[in-house]
Amino acid sequence: MGSLPRITLKKGKEKPILRGHPWVFSGAVARAEGDLAPGEIGEVYSGDGKFLGIGQFNPHSQIILRLLTRRRETLDSSFFGGRLLQADVLREKGLHGKTNAYRVINGEGDFLPGLIVDRYGEILVLQCLTAGMERLKGLFIDLLVRHFNPKNIYERSDVPSRREEGLPEARGLLYGEEILDSFEIEEYGCRFRVDVKEGQKTGFYLDQRENRFSLQKVSHGKKILDCFCYSGGFSIHTGLGGAKEITMIDSSKEALERAKDHFALNHLKSISPHLIRGDAFEVMRSLEPDYDIVILDPPPFAKKKGHLPGASRGYKDLNLQAFRLLKREGLLFTFSCSHHMNLDLFQKIVFAAAVDAGRRVQLLARRGHPIDHPVDLSHPEGEYLRGMVCRAL
Ligand code: SAH
Repeated sequence: MGSLPRITLKKGKEKPILRGHPWVFSGAVARAEGDLAPGEIGEVYSGDGKFLGIGQFNPHSQIILRLLTRRRETLDSSFFGGRLLQADVLREKGLHGKTNAYRVINGEGDFLPGLIVDRYGEILVLQCLTAGMERLKGLFIDLLVRHFNPKNIYERSDVPSRREEGLPEARGLLYGEEILDSFEIEEYGCRFRVDVKEGQKTGFYLDQRENRFSLQKVSHGKKILDCFCYSGGFSIHTGLGGAKEITMIDSSKEALERAKDHFALNHLKSISPHLIRGDAFEVMRSLEPDYDIVILDPPPFAKKKGHLPGASRGYKDLNLQAFRLLKREGLLFTFSCSHHMNLDLFQKIVFAAAVDAGRRVQLLARRGHPIDHPVDLSHPEGEYLRGMVCRAL
């Protein structure tokens, strides 16, 4: 261990690490010794020389070290295999029999900073977000093959944040034979076709599974408006729950085509969904108020803190339109997946929208991440999905 590169923190800067936070910012570092190459494993010490832990360096990033352990131990295949098993036990217990598509590893939330692995039946999709995990890609491919025996592992590291790590975007087959353009998954009795090569994110919005399912129970005989529908995840659940009429809005042609196919795939022949391609902000304005349930699941508007004021205006506008469109006693399922939008602010925005729409609104439930997207409590930055279920009187 003595030969590992190391950083020593400025006095007092060890507090977040002692409380379990996995990130060390470059501004906290007093001294660096040894070769801190991107992705290199090394140690971190407090200003008074106390060993704090071992992690992965990236001197090109503002986050100079991502901690993997606070113990003196060797970070080898059995160490990472242990983390993988710990993550898998959670999913096995919580999701078995409900779906064959879920997040296997959720980065910091599973104590593997920068690594995302999603499972779609026999196919795994891997995303390396840091130089550290980029170096360990081969090791994780071996571990995943041994543990899951997948048909394929496909990489979807085509995310802009890789540039902040000094890495190019990457996408392609990592293991197995060439994969099909799309294949079927199952989620609480619904079937969906997923395209991991070209689809958004790693192919499907796994994080909304439980929230989609919750719609099945309240949709019977209802008229639904699904805004930002992507491939129709929420809508299909409402269809299976017996919805009477479904209107869907998305700006992506491919997403709407897929959504249409999903009605046939799920034998929902009695419903002919009304598909509208366009900007949901505009389309919602043009609709007549007549809906029992409105779903708002927009893309993240605030990826950076500086975007918050504009994002807040966007959320306010959408929620205002949703309240305008809801019938008396109608339900709103409203979400934000912006990292910088906390629940408190989101609730204030929805409240302001209700006031402007002249509706009296009850909060029925708060919604968030499913269990395959765990958040390390020491790392609240990992929480991003905020949702509310409201009834408008
Ligand atoms: N609810 C979906 C996920 C939604 S993701 C599910 O459960 O699977 C957000 C969607 O918003 C994407 O499909 C994207 O194409 C769409 N989108 C982005 N900007 C939009 C806009 N201004 N108007 C309509 N749709 C938009």
